[in-house]
Amino acid sequence: MVNTLSRPYKNQLVRVASLLERLRRRGLRLTAQRRVIAEALEGAHVHLTADEVFERAVARLPELSRATVYNTLNQLHALGEIAEITLDSGPRRYDPNVAKPHQHLVCDRCGTVRDVVPLGDVSLPHDQQYGFAVSDVQMVFRGLCPACARSQPRLGFRSHSTVSADAGPEPSALGAFRTSAKGLRKS
Ligand SMILES: [Zn+2]
Ligand SMILES: [Zn+2]
Repeated sequence: MVNTLSRPYKNQLVRVASLLERLRRRGLRLTAQRRVIAEALEGAHVHLTADEVFERAVARLPELSRATVYNTLNQLHALGEIAEITLDSGPRRYDPNVAKPHQHLVCDRCGTVRDVVPLGDVSLPHDQQYGFAVSDVQMVFRGLCPACARSQPRLGFRSHSTVSADAGPEPSALGAFRTSAKGLRKS
């Protein structure tokens, strides 16, 4: 069996077709419900809870029900078009960026989430797989985003900086935070 997790990460995020475009290519019938739900998940660095998807989608299609949103999210997840992620003890979030493995960088204060691609290899050595068929890895880099760091200058980036998995030296995680936060600021 090929362990896809053993590939070294390429340190880049890849531009991919939007979720809506992918569903269209797949030949999935784009009902009004599916369309507004897919549009709610449009964009970069989108990681919404089911309730947040509902709130965005129902604003455009008032007759939409919460149950339809939950069912559609489950269906899109089963198709592999969105990922389910857990960033903390809160509810699951839905991530339309499924083209390339990536990890997440989270602001401890405001909850801003960025997609990041760590340097190096995040696979487990064979002798530490304990016979598991490993299918996924989720790594969360934590810290303060630039806006939150500015409002709390004394603590800055060092305050809550932890890496929840064995992700290599902490300074590279912090460097990634700074770089990505700067590079990805939206116009
Ligand atoms: Zn923040
Ligand atoms: Zn993501």
